[in-house]
Amino acid sequence: MVIGAGVAGITTAYVLRESGFTDITVLEKGSDVGGVWHWNHYPGLACDVPSQLYQFGFAPKADWRRVWADGREIQRYHRDVVDRVGLAPMIRLNTEVTEARWDDARQEWTVRTAAGEELHADFVLCATGVLHHPFIPEIAGLADFGGAVVHTARWDDDLDTAGKRIAVLGTGSTGVQVVSALQREASAVQHYVRSPQWILWAPMSLRQLPGVASVLKRFPALHHSMYGMLQWGSGILADITTRPSWRRRAVQAYARLSLRAQVRDPALRASLTPDYQPLCKRQVVSGTYYRAIQAPNAELISDAIAEVTPTGIRTADGTHRDTDVIVLATGFRAHNYMRPMRVIGRDGISIDDAWDKGPRAYRMTAIPGFPNLFTVLGPNSPTGSISLQFSAELTARYIAQWLNRFRDGKLRTVEVTEEATTRFNDDVQAAMGPTVWNTGCNSWYLTEGDTIDLWPYDRATLVSMLSAPEDDHFHVG
Ligand code: NAP
Repeated sequence: MVIGAGVAGITTAYVLRESGFTDITVLEKGSDVGGVWHWNHYPGLACDVPSQLYQFGFAPKADWRRVWADGREIQRYHRDVVDRVGLAPMIRLNTEVTEARWDDARQEWTVRTAAGEELHADFVLCATGVLHHPFIPEIAGLADFGGAVVHTARWDDDLDTAGKRIAVLGTGSTGVQVVSALQREASAVQHYVRSPQWILWAPMSLRQLPGVASVLKRFPALHHSMYGMLQWGSGILADITTRPSWRRRAVQAYARLSLRAQVRDPALRASLTPDYQPLCKRQVVSGTYYRAIQAPNAELISDAIAEVTPTGIRTADGTHRDTDVIVLATGFRAHNYMRPMRVIGRDGISIDDAWDKGPRAYRMTAIPGFPNLFTVLGPNSPTGSISLQFSAELTARYIAQWLNRFRDGKLRTVEVTEEATTRFNDDVQAAMGPTVWNTGCNSWYLTEGDTIDLWPYDRATLVSMLSAPEDDHFHVG
């Protein structure tokens, strides 16, 4: 049983099906597949990873309209892939899992859904995503605001923002995209920025070169090699983020130049200048934000928000700005993973108890106390440095090796040891030392336990750690 039909769930279902498994059920709480690309449909949504890279290796798409596709095209792609490779019959939409409980006597999982259904599975694979549960800040008066309040990840498509005064809170990748999009038609955009971000300039609206699609369609082998080269080339990001070098400094210099070249007003530039190194937070990329924030109908507000009133927002300096719509681009509870699902493992241990000091897994995928359960894009996944599609496929192939042994009758249960998990996590935190994420900024990468929930190694280490199971790291029953 696979939980989630986003990038990780689609990949897992595909890999297992290709490995010859026939009894696969994917449970998805949304009304469509695609994960973040289904849930997010705010104005300006795009992916800042080039689409020829941000796609499944097993389902290349030649004819992306843009080099960096918009959210709608990416969501369509996920739906098309599910149909094209024949996964649709195994996916159950609108099916939210509320509980998964390990039954030690029967050596199987009992899975309950929000509709009260009870299902049984030999293995549960959690592909439940990272950036999924919207973070709604507690701000005095927010509940009594007279206009619309919308979180970007639950955008209301009926909300008319043209000609309105719009307050946007947050300046991560989402806030920057939504401000750039809304500014064009709003009467005023008030961008509340608690901590400015470095914003790399890139021509995000660039179209894919004419002719590229027909050549790639005509020569699939060429497309395949190009994808492989792009994947390999993207390894540079892991290098830049995990090791201090001239390459990191060059990208950081480019981030500073992006600001200097586009914002000439010294006061505004000062307000837009972060007090930490570029790349420390998830890097924001935009070709439009600095222009948008300098438009006559836009305002950058760095003063802290004191309260929301029924008609607007008051900042700590006492200024009140009238507002029609409040847009929360305030990010996600990134460390929830499969929660609020109740996951109860061996001896009645719950995932909340097992993770009371923050999420923790062995090589992103196995959790002590939870037999026959794996995560795909779980804790410490390389969300800040390596292709997610690549990582998900690698993890699914690793899991498939355990499932093969189960199918061959060589094991009934498999559970990672506490020792192997502790060693892996200790090594990971030690390896975080020289990473750029550890240079002193507050980001969604940090857990409640003050660890960094990322992958501090390169692609080769990822491949080697997930190439084959190491039996002495597991209890095999
Ligand atoms: P985010 O990076 O976590 O940013 C949240 C923003 O909200 C921050 O600016 C934060 O300020 C602000 N904030 C939170 N609570 C606040 C409060 N009480 N008052 C004022 N401001 C508050 O979230 P995100 O922008 O949604 O992005 C999350 C991740 O999604 C990205 O890092 C990226 O991985 C992914 N994403 C990717 C793309 C893409 O193009 N590939 C697009 C969108 C999102 P502080 O910094 O001060 O905490």
